[in-house]
Amino acid sequence: MKNMLWLQTGACSGDTMALLCAENPTIEQLVKAGTIEVLWHPSLSSGDADLGALIAAIEAGEQRLDLLCIEGSIITGPQGTGMFDSYRKRPKMDIVRALAAHAGHVVAMGTCAAFGGIPASGSNPTDSIGLQFDRDKQGGLLAWDWRAKSGTPVINVAGCPAHPETIVRTLAMLARDLPMELDGLNRPAVFFSSMVHQGCTRNEYHEYDVEETELGGRGCMYFNLGCKGPSTQAVCNTTLWNGRSSKTRAGVPCFGCTAPNFPAEGDLFRTEKIADVPIKMPLGVARGQYMAYKNLAKAAAPVRVRGRKMEP
Ligand code: SF4
Repeated sequence: MKNMLWLQTGACSGDTMALLCAENPTIEQLVKAGTIEVLWHPSLSSGDADLGALIAAIEAGEQRLDLLCIEGSIITGPQGTGMFDSYRKRPKMDIVRALAAHAGHVVAMGTCAAFGGIPASGSNPTDSIGLQFDRDKQGGLLAWDWRAKSGTPVINVAGCPAHPETIVRTLAMLARDLPMELDGLNRPAVFFSSMVHQGCTRNEYHEYDVEETELGGRGCMYFNLGCKGPSTQAVCNTTLWNGRSSKTRAGVPCFGCTAPNFPAEGDLFRTEKIADVPIKMPLGVARGQYMAYKNLAKAAAPVRVRGRKMEP
């Protein structure tokens, strides 16, 4: 059994909601099976639990800490003090740094903790950063060469929020000491090696270049409505949310929320283009070849697809 302490920093609680929604397994099953012991979690611990005493015991070396999960961006403002986000008059960024030194693994739950996310975008008024990244740059609160006691860097369970099943399966793998390969952004590769595009019910429309210009249609949302499914690594359309849906199934474009530069500048619902061609190609695809293929495919589109007769 591994124990877990889950702290919120600059967070909206979306990853906690995702954790509580996970179905396969549920967090309750992980606890009942003796896989995980919850030392403290803001929504699972009782009001009597003393977080301050727990933090002190870990720092004093009197309490073992296996899994430190951080939800939310690390707020370093104002002027590097971190006092925009404090616990008992101590900046949370200092608490996180101190606890990380004792943790077997540190897990960034969600894109804010991993890369800075929404609070770190735009003018970043709170001077937010990620745990080991600052947006797409290496090094955040912790140095790039920092390692947890087990030898791993911060494990980035990216997503805004992170996918429920990705959260619990990552926790289960770590708790059972299963081998975990990380990708170039220190995300568990098993959950971040396929595209959101894979498994999307609009794929046949994408294939034949049947593209919507307004929300609410059945066609693909890549060319006009900002869908980043072909360049975003996540399991959203192969492991459905709540076992039944995903953004694109609900008619909303993929916003690319597992990427370090999320949210990108510009309109989330419009595709940035040059000369009517999307700037961002599907991952690994050459622009010239792609457009030649799309033009041919559009001409070959069957009437049933052009007529949007397929249910998304
Ligand atoms: S809507 Fe997005 S994810 Fe679905 S087929 Fe089109 S580009 Fe791919």
